[in-house]
Amino acid sequence: MVRQLYCVLLIIFALACLASVPVQAAPVAFDWLEAPADELALEDVRALPPGEWQRSGSSEVFNRGFSDGSFWLRVEIPPEPANRVMEIGYPLLDEVSVHWVLNGELIQTHHTGDTLPFGSRPIHHRNFVFLVPSNTEPVTAFVRVKTQGSVQIPVEVTPSAQFLANEQFSYGWQTVFLGIIIAMALYNLFLFVIVRHSTYLWYVLTVVFTGLVQLNFNGLLFQWLWPNAPGINQYFTIPVICAALFAAIIFAIRFLNIRHYSLKSYRFLQWVLTAIFTCLVFGLFGSYQTGIVLVSGLAAVVTPAAWLIGFLVWRKGQVLGGFYVLAWTPLLIGHLILAVSKLGMMPRSFLTEFMPQIGVALEVVLLSFALSYRINLERRKRHEAQEQALAIQQQANLTLELRVQQRTDELERANEQLKAISLTDGLTHVANRRRFDEKLQDEWKRAQRHGHPLSLLLLDIDHFKRVNDELGHLVGDDCLTEVAALCAAEVQRSGDLLARYGGEEFSILLPATPEEGAVRVAERVRQAVARSPVHSGERVAPVNLTISVGVACLVPDPDTEPQELIRQADEALYAAKESGRNRVMVARDFRAATVPGT
Ligand code: GH3
Ligand code: MG
Ligand code: MG
Repeated sequence: MVRQLYCVLLIIFALACLASVPVQAAPVAFDWLEAPADELALEDVRALPPGEWQRSGSSEVFNRGFSDGSFWLRVEIPPEPANRVMEIGYPLLDEVSVHWVLNGELIQTHHTGDTLPFGSRPIHHRNFVFLVPSNTEPVTAFVRVKTQGSVQIPVEVTPSAQFLANEQFSYGWQTVFLGIIIAMALYNLFLFVIVRHSTYLWYVLTVVFTGLVQLNFNGLLFQWLWPNAPGINQYFTIPVICAALFAAIIFAIRFLNIRHYSLKSYRFLQWVLTAIFTCLVFGLFGSYQTGIVLVSGLAAVVTPAAWLIGFLVWRKGQVLGGFYVLAWTPLLIGHLILAVSKLGMMPRSFLTEFMPQIGVALEVVLLSFALSYRINLERRKRHEAQEQALAIQQQANLTLELRVQQRTDELERANEQLKAISLTDGLTHVANRRRFDEKLQDEWKRAQRHGHPLSLLLLDIDHFKRVNDELGHLVGDDCLTEVAALCAAEVQRSGDLLARYGGEEFSILLPATPEEGAVRVAERVRQAVARSPVHSGERVAPVNLTISVGVACLVPDPDTEPQELIRQADEALYAAKESGRNRVMVARDFRAATVPGT
């Protein structure tokens, strides 16, 4: 960024050096008069009394605005020992006739102007240049000028050698200017081809048309491109100014995104665009004089307006506005200097003559720089957007992962709950039959592997039917729950399992427990139930319950099924019932392990 700015400053410095070269020409004083209806011929003019003439000093540039009439100048050139030329330095004049009078005699006449072929000029130069016919005697040039455009008639008489020296600078500058225009136009055209952004194309058009306007004003296009077709001059100036203004405004609108920053300015510029288009049509089909007045007025409005709008959007936050204002400033100053010098308020120098053109060159270079800077800005913006998008995506991924993890956890919890529910008895909250069956399978295999004994207790509440019948099912349910709780309190080893086997029967599986141990547990349970009446609500008297327990114990061998253990426990239980209930019986021998009261 800083490096680029140095380049720009270097260009400005180079142009400033060029601009400081003084113009060593000699503007001359002369007499002039206006013939409003173009009614005077040379003889009439020569015969006019001195009072009819007005004086134009050597310090001012003759500028009469727009006029339908013709102007006559009487330039007295005293003798001087050097060849000299008289230059009329405004190439857009329609008709320029010079009549040389020596000692009262008309000795030479030239008819030229930009309505005649370039060949009509005695010296082939972009301006109107005539050799002063005598060095030894005073000569008078009667110059008649008639033009539909601006009546500017800067007259200079310069020694030929000096004129040539000045010409080196002047022409050199024109080619430098042309070089800048071509380089910038091509550079931005390439940018357009690569970037494909219409702003660059409008910039290229602005550069090309602005360059053409300047070269046209300096008479170079006529000299280089259509010297034998002066008719084109009539139809070129207005359209090319219109095109330059048009392209410049569209470029500004797009480059600064004016619509976004200031809708009022945008509307104003659209109005100006319509006006320019109207001027263009007028320039092609209407009167040249009205067209050129209109287009000059428009240009006078557009230049400061563009500067102001650039400033406005800059203040409103458009970074590129700064570049734009910087680029337009030299042009604005150039136009200002030109206006001041044309009013004769500033001595003529290279600066006053070429400042508008230098302004254009600077504008073109600075804006081109701004366009390159814009690429950088956009790249940065794109990069930021990409990073933002990436961050958003990463965040989204993280959120998604988190959510998936949450859902998975929830699902796992739900599964565990479901599994627990599916393996738990709804009433007593101890394990259900399914859980018991699974556990029996597992423990059977484990006991088989380790050669451990596996014990099973089958419990059945005695005369439970009666409880149900007499006290109702709800009390019956409470009893079941209470018996389960009492059993659970007695079954404490971690591998043991208490399950509701069905109805009012419970089972207790005791892995790695020998028969004696199993009988001890059975007895503990039996006693716990027997001594704990169940309290089921205030209205119901405590219910005394007893249980019968069948105990079986096996060391599983490969040929035996786990059902064998159940069968044996069931038989023992049956036997306990048969032998009077409220007791523990051991399988096989149906030994009464314990009986009430023991
Ligand atoms: P026994 O001493 O011979 O075992 O006599 P019993 O009345 O207990 O006879 P049995 O075991 O055949 O009766 C089972 C009764 O248990 C049947 C039913 O009324 C009761 N019962 C079974 N399941 C439930 C239950 O979930 N809730 C309630 N309230 N009662 C149940
Ligand atoms: Mg039963
Ligand atoms: Mg029973």
